[in-house]
Amino acid sequence: MVEQNKIDILHEPQAKRSLSEAILKRRDHEAEADYRLSVCMLASGSKGNAIYLSDGRTAILIDAGLSGIEIERRLRSRGLLPQHLQGIVVSHEHADHIHGVGVLSRRFNLPVYISRKTAAAASQLGNPHDIVHFECGSSFCINDLQIHPFSLAHDASDPAGFTIHCNGIKLGIATDLGIATSVVKEHLKGCTALILEANHDPDMLINGPYPWPLKQRIQSRTGHLSNAASQTLLDELIHDHLKHVILAHLSETNNTPQEALHAIESALVDTQVQVHVAKQNESGEILFLK
Ligand SMILES: [Zn+2]
Ligand SMILES: [Zn+2]
Repeated sequence: MVEQNKIDILHEPQAKRSLSEAILKRRDHEAEADYRLSVCMLASGSKGNAIYLSDGRTAILIDAGLSGIEIERRLRSRGLLPQHLQGIVVSHEHADHIHGVGVLSRRFNLPVYISRKTAAAASQLGNPHDIVHFECGSSFCINDLQIHPFSLAHDASDPAGFTIHCNGIKLGIATDLGIATSVVKEHLKGCTALILEANHDPDMLINGPYPWPLKQRIQSRTGHLSNAASQTLLDELIHDHLKHVILAHLSETNNTPQEALHAIESALVDTQVQVHVAKQNESGEILFLK
């Protein structure tokens, strides 16, 4: 059974919550029994990205691309407390990934884990409470969360994807990538859960309202992964122990959840994989990985 302190660290005191929240919380407790890593997509897309991760003892954010206030609001909407965070890991310097990093870092005394090149390029970072540099290709730990950053093909200084190892779980995160290189494929092998970009439907992009240079940028090798490219990657990564796929960074203009799901479904025929689509405007449910 899950220890009491695991529950307390993740949730606000019962007294503060409404009845419906209490019911939601009871369901959460059933779902979270014996989990090894929990994941919550707080926001995903070109208007802001943030992923919450916790092993019950250590909670972190991967990116914080909304305002600090909005990230706090989305955490609380899922019964999570910003005071329990212990760090923010930054993938790259684009505003939709770092907008709230500086303010959250200062407000909650959080170290920011970021590569040197990304930090140098991140003019929006402000003056964080503390900075810890990482290097793509070298693992680092935040308590029991073992984090391995790896290079992505994207038009930023030093863009990173991540794998997180914890309690026998392997979570892979790859969004903001133009192509899935062999480095990406190698790192994402054997994951229990994958957070994978499915940015656009190529026809919707080409026929859509974006100016031509932006269309070219998105389609380029350093742009964003299309639904079809995501499906091809997933085809290569599928294995018996993959339990969850979270489609992420969907374009609101050039994609729909239905298109993205339809595109990848052929990769998942005859598998038990649960597929989720991360949203831009609200946080997703907390996923308890076991
Ligand atoms: Zn992005
Ligand atoms: Zn980006």
